[in-house]
Amino acid sequence: MSTYDRNNIFARILRGELPCKKVYEDEFALAFHDIHPLAPVHVLVIPKGEYVSNADFAASAPPDLLTGFWRAVAKVARDLGLESSGYRLVANHGAQSGQSVFHFHVHIFGGKMMPHDMT
Ligand code: 5GP
Repeated sequence: MSTYDRNNIFARILRGELPCKKVYEDEFALAFHDIHPLAPVHVLVIPKGEYVSNADFAASAPPDLLTGFWRAVAKVARDLGLESSGYRLVANHGAQSGQSVFHFHVHIFGGKMMPHDMT
């Protein structure tokens, strides 16, 4: 498991040191628009805690944070109006998958037909 870097971009956003276009926040999660959207709707949801990836989050987060985070993901998708049209969740783990920010995050993609490939 890699070490959490407290100065990664999302840690700095969580601390309010960098701006974001906030969509939702509660005690467990923060959701904001991706700076380089890959779909008409592209929102990132991050847990409030120091987790590098899903493996780290699943292994180490307390149950209320695990539950609260995933409920926040579902709520954000619902509030964005994506529940009936559909949406895609992606969480990259490790550089080979494309992970570039090493604070665990879930991408919510929506607003278009999603291709049936690995993107
Ligand atoms: P990953 O590639 O790690 O799965 O996803 C990281 C995402 O964070 C990318 O989609 C990238 O566009 C987004 N991102 C990188 N830096 C920033 C930033 O400073 N602000 C926001 N809102 N998104 C960022």
